[in-house]
Amino acid sequence: MNDTTKDCCADPSQKLLSVEQGRQRILDAVPVIADHEQLHLRAALNRVLAEPVVSAIDVPPFANSAMDGYAIRHEDCSTASPCTLNIIGTSFAGTPFTGEVKAGQCIRIMTGAVMPDGADTVLMQETVERDGEKIQFDPAGVKAGQHVRYAGEDTRTGQSVLEPGKVLGPAELGLLASVGVGEIRVWRRLRVAFFSTGDELASIGTPLQAGQIYDSNRYALYGLLSNAGIDFHDLGVIPDQREAVRDAFRQAADMADLVLTSGGVSVGEADFVTETLEELGEINFWRMAMKPGKPLAFGKLDDAVFFGLPGNPVSAMVTFYQFVLPAIRKMGGIQMREPLVFEARCANPLKKAPGRTEFQRGVLQHSMDGSWQVSTTGLQGSHVLRSMSLANCFILLPAESTGASEGENVLVQPFCDLGEQ
Ligand code: AMP
Ligand code: MG
Repeated sequence: MNDTTKDCCADPSQKLLSVEQGRQRILDAVPVIADHEQLHLRAALNRVLAEPVVSAIDVPPFANSAMDGYAIRHEDCSTASPCTLNIIGTSFAGTPFTGEVKAGQCIRIMTGAVMPDGADTVLMQETVERDGEKIQFDPAGVKAGQHVRYAGEDTRTGQSVLEPGKVLGPAELGLLASVGVGEIRVWRRLRVAFFSTGDELASIGTPLQAGQIYDSNRYALYGLLSNAGIDFHDLGVIPDQREAVRDAFRQAADMADLVLTSGGVSVGEADFVTETLEELGEINFWRMAMKPGKPLAFGKLDDAVFFGLPGNPVSAMVTFYQFVLPAIRKMGGIQMREPLVFEARCANPLKKAPGRTEFQRGVLQHSMDGSWQVSTTGLQGSHVLRSMSLANCFILLPAESTGASEGENVLVQPFCDLGEQ
């Protein structure tokens, strides 16, 4: 770990780290886990592909009809107008016609059925008059090869189908099945251990004593980690006691690729997370130039990556989305990409002091004129969890911004890009 950034929380004179700098340092530092596993296609849903997939077949494997109609030889179109052809058989999807179509002949053909030898063009049945075993049609405007799907039109033998790092969604399962792949190598799931710290935290189901609040971070983290497709262990609430915090860290580092805690990373008198981490691991305490979420601890505990999130519930969620989620994605083998951020028109003024990037919570919607519009969720305190629940996006106000007036364009980051359902 870089010593120049160490302990910057304890030294308020130290420069704040920008969100981009913090995210880049984190991404540079975290490893991609090494282990893969072989899974049946269905079990691989939402997992991360760990091998390139090359097609062993053409898709479609044979030329076939895109319409229900008649397969003809295009050269017959120049014989007469209207043109008359004899029907000599039928090609069904899955049951091909085995003969050859010769001059003056055609066959009845269904969508997806093999194009017979000799035929090269399909007439839609709506453009044809049928009389017994004959058809008659106007040949003007019939194009050679129309309504035929060629072998390999979608994917050719030897062509790359998917690259490693792709998350296998419904389309990818279908695509892999279409090239006959039934088993696939994926990264194993990342293992995360997490716990909350704080003597004031009560578990739900017990009445609150004086000075207590319910532990909400463990539930929000449960949701965030579930949506990120991760194996996790919830180690509960750890009291603000040096020995208890130390034991929890050892236990967590033993079982996980990534250890996540909330609370105790500020400079309060009962914040044992920071000093325990200095004793057991390689840790940086960063003051991030962001709001909410200023203190963030990041480093290593044995072989595990460690994040100490702030205790305030909104700060914990914002820092998870902005720093932990990119790290989780990289560690789990996912191809990295830029976050989805775009401009929307502000429906109300937004207050902000210059200095730190703010992640205000907003409601994004389409306005009557078809453009995107965003409105604030109201109270923006880092303890106001309701602001996250009402929101469907972050409003990103850059460090130098002094707020926004009504009608001004601001940057938004929709929650759906951050794995929310
Ligand atoms: P800390 O980071 O430990 O100084 O906590 C900052 C604020 O977040 C305090 O008001 C804590 O009570 C609150 N807090 C800490 N952990 C949690 C939690 N797990 N759930 C809800 N609030 C918490
Ligand atoms: Mg605390």
